[in-house]
Order: sequence, then C-alpha cells, then structure tokens
Amino acid sequence: MSQWDGKTDILIVGAGPVGLTAAVFLTHYGISCRIIDKKNSPTQTSNAIGIQPRTLELFEEVKLSKIFLDHALRVDQSVLFLNKKPCFKINLSEFIDSKYNYLSMVPQNKTEEYLLNYLTDHNVNVEYCTELKGFFQSESGIQSTIKYSSKESLIQSQYLIAADGYNSFVGRSLNRPYHQEEYPYQFILMDAPATLSKSFDHKILIGMKKHFTLMVFPMKSGYRFLAEVSQADFNQNLEGNSKVFESMFKATIPSSLLMGDPTWFSRFKIHEKLIKDYKYKEVFFLGDAAHVHSPAGGQGMNTGIQDAINLSWKLSRVIKNKSHGKLLLTYHQERRPVAQKVIQRSKRMSQWVLKSIHIIKLLKPMIKYLLSLKSFQYVINNTIAQINISYRSIFDRFSKPKNQVYSGDRYLFNKSIQMEDQYYLFDDIGDIPKCWESKYHIKIFKNRRLSSKNSRQYCLVRPDRYIAFIGEDIKALKHYLIKWC
Ligand SMILES: Cc1cc2nc3c(=O)[nH]c(=O)nc-3n(C[C@H](O)[C@H](O)[C@H](O)COP(=O)(O)OP(=O)(O)OC[C@H]3O[C@@H](n4cnc5c(N)ncnc54)[C@H](O)[C@@H]3O)c2cc1C
Repeated sequence: MSQWDGKTDILIVGAGPVGLTAAVFLTHYGISCRIIDKKNSPTQTSNAIGIQPRTLELFEEVKLSKIFLDHALRVDQSVLFLNKKPCFKINLSEFIDSKYNYLSMVPQNKTEEYLLNYLTDHNVNVEYCTELKGFFQSESGIQSTIKYSSKESLIQSQYLIAADGYNSFVGRSLNRPYHQEEYPYQFILMDAPATLSKSFDHKILIGMKKHFTLMVFPMKSGYRFLAEVSQADFNQNLEGNSKVFESMFKATIPSSLLMGDPTWFSRFKIHEKLIKDYKYKEVFFLGDAAHVHSPAGGQGMNTGIQDAINLSWKLSRVIKNKSHGKLLLTYHQERRPVAQKVIQRSKRMSQWVLKSIHIIKLLKPMIKYLLSLKSFQYVINNTIAQINISYRSIFDRFSKPKNQVYSGDRYLFNKSIQMEDQYYLFDDIGDIPKCWESKYHIKIFKNRRLSSKNSRQYCLVRPDRYIAFIGEDIKALKHYLIKWC
C-alpha cells in the first residue's frame, strides 16, 4: 500500500535542464513545487552545449545570466571546409540584436549544476532516484504514485509538468499522439581535450568529405567532435576509437591537432517528434517530452528552457488567482508553433550540411553571395539565436500599433530588472487609473515612451518579456486585461 506523501502545487517529472528551469522559475515566483528524477544524480556528460542569446536574456529574471557567462566559452564564427579549403564563413557575433551577441558554449552538466545551485540556495531539493510510476487526474487534481528505493508513495498536485525527456512516460501513459519521423543520419560523438592551430580558437569548424561530415565545437574544457557517418561505419562501434576522429579531422580541416584522452563517447541516430497537444487537462509537456529534432543549430534544450519559462509565469498567475485559467491554454498556442519551426529548420539544416556536398559545391557562388548580404546574415543569426521568436500571430487581433512593434514581439529593457510574475503597463498617454494595478494585478509606469520615434500609446509587457498589448485604444487594452489578467 502506497504511503501518503503530501500536497504540492506542481509536480515536475524530470530534472533535466527543462524540468530544472521550470523549478527555478516557479520557485522565483513563490510557487511550491516538487521535482523528481529517476536517475541517481545530475547529468555528468556535456550533451547540449550551446546556450542561445535569448535564453541568456530570459535568465536575467532569475539572475543566472552572469553565472552562465562567467563559465561560457564564446563562439564568434563558424567555418565550413570543403576538401580542407575554407568554403563559407558565418560570423556568429555580428548582427545579433542582443547584448549577448554570441553563442555561449556551456556543457549540459554545468547548465544543470547552475540551475541546481539556484534551487539549493532556495531550499528546493531535487529528488533523485525517484520515479513516477503512475498518476490519475480527477476534479480535485492529480494523484501521482512515485517510487523511491522500492517504497511507493502518493503525491497530490494541482498540475503536473512532464519534462521527462524524449521517451516521455507521462506522454505514453496518457496515450498522447505525436508526429514522428526518422532521419537517415547517424552520428558518433567524442569530447576530448585538444589543441588546434591558434587561428581556429572560438570557432565552430565543419569539415565535409564525400562519405562523412565532421563538426568540431570548442568548449572551455576541450572540444566536441561530432561526425555524421555512413550506416556501415555507425554499425562498427567506431565511437570507442579516437583515431577515427583524428583521421577525419586531418582529412577535412587544415589545422594542427594535438588530442588528449577522450572524456566521453556516444553515438545516436536522429529523428523528429512533436506532440499534438502541449497541454492535456492539467498536464503540460515541455522540452524533449514535447519536441525532439536534429541537434543541428543547438536549438533543442534552448527551446525546452523557453517552454519552461513561458509556462511558469502563467501557472504562477493562475495559481495565485491573478489571471484567468484560460491563460494556460496559450502555452500550447504559443510554444507548439515555435517547436514546429525549429523542427523544419533543423531538418533543412541537417539535409544541407550533412548530405549534400554536391549541392553545396553546385550552389557555392549563390550561398557565398547570400552570406555577403547583411540582411541575410541578420535573419539567419537572429533566428538561430532565438531572438526572432515572436507570438505575433496569436496577438494580431488585439492591437493596431502605429510602428513596427507588435503585440507578441520581444520586449527589451534597458537594464536588468526582475518583473516577478507581474505585467508591466507603460502608459505613455497618462490616463490609466491607479486602481487598475490591483484590479488586474499589473504594475503601471507613466510617461515612459517606448522610443522617441513612437507615438504615445499603451504598452503592456508580460513577465516573460514579450509584448502583450501595444496600441492607443484604451477599450482594446481593457478588453485584453479583462480577458487575460
Ligand atoms: C549530441 C547532442 C547535442 C545537443 N546539443 C544541443 C545544444 O547545443 N543546444 C540545445 O539547445 N540542445 C542540444 N541538444 C538537445 C538537448 O540535449 C535536449 O533537447 C535537452 O537535453 C532536453 O532536455 P529535457 O530536460 O527536456 O530532457 P532530458 O534532459 O532528457 O531530461 C529528462 C529527465 O526525465 C527523467 N525521467 C524520465 N522518465 C522519468 C520518470 N518516469 N520519473 C522520473 N524521472 C523521469 C530522466 O531521467 C531525465 O533526467 C543536443 C542533443 C544531442 C543528442
């Protein structure tokens, strides 16, 4: 018989980077949560290594950006070699519309460590060796059975966050439908300390040959060597052999190489997977439990982390009765299209970089021309940096701004501030009554113009720093506040 193990607002299943981020933000908002993971300790290996600029912007809310930056290696260029000759260069540090205008390399074990440290500092215990074995939803909430060292117990929660990875137990238990597709690519991976020619510092190197593509990523503690290989090579368990990577490197990249003892090997095939509904009753799917795709572009973990941030403030406001429960529906409406686009892009990127040496040779002049266009690089860099993510399409109907900023766009503060779970209303017209603050649980700032170019208007900013409403129609603003706040 299972023992009763108490109540919590939210049970988070999975303490990977996504579950941990949800726990960090919920804790920041003062929401009680428990976070469990069946593994016995945090991730020890580097797995996801790229932290995108938008993730760093959003981590400012919980004062984690600086910690990540202090330990990151900044990458400023990516170079593609065809037969050892540089073919294309992409400057990653230019044209990104953020103060974090670079890709930051932080191994996943470190990412988890910084998130865990935050939780420890705030007296939240991550319950390792604790597995979700079953659950059911009823009118009074969710009752979950968890198992810790052969003992089963019951937890009652209002909501359940499924951050339990690509083979989500929660998704399978609920029989949730996914769109799935296998890719015809297989990878071998190795992390090792290495010394390359000085001119290749802080660069991602991609070397292409007819039968394989090798990617080399710099990290603070060495390099990640990632190779797409043929099925035959994949089957040979090549990953145990660092000589294979050395010879691929020598065949494709014009640099010296001194390699130390490898610290990690892995091999994997890639596939894509996207859950149909991000929300099912009071259960939410986040991170790899909702979307999986090729690692090309370093998007998966970042997308998952931003799922967690998008959901956390909404849960906080609904639990505290500051917002109507239907706000939670927007989690699916906003985040699924983001993952859909990421999947399309990373699929295209994989097809281009991995399988089409002939096409790349053929289109070289055109690609070179495109990369020489600032506008092209601007779009590419801001898309990969996840700066371009916007929820415009969902908000279009709420606003008619007289400038280029729309509801759903990202909002940038001049300095680092903590919004908690409050909306900020910038009232440039000056006629919003003070009583709206308590009525709609918002914070009002008078006469702070968005920029000198804009006409006077109202701008309502959400806790995740996206514009909820912008315009000069007070009735439309009120309609928005009544509906969502
Ligand atoms: C080689 C490689 C490189 C990558 N590089 C990048 C990159 O540079 N940038 C990027 O953004 N993404 C990258 N990704 C993708 C990234 O690794 C994943 O998207 C990310 O780790 C997903 O995090 P998560 O927290 O959703 O899931 P996971 O990290 O898989 O965590 C899920 C957790 O749930 C736990 N769990 C499962 N079932 C249960 C249960 N029943 N009870 C309790 N606990 C349970 C598991 O033990 C696990 O710890 C890369 C992926 C690969 C393979």
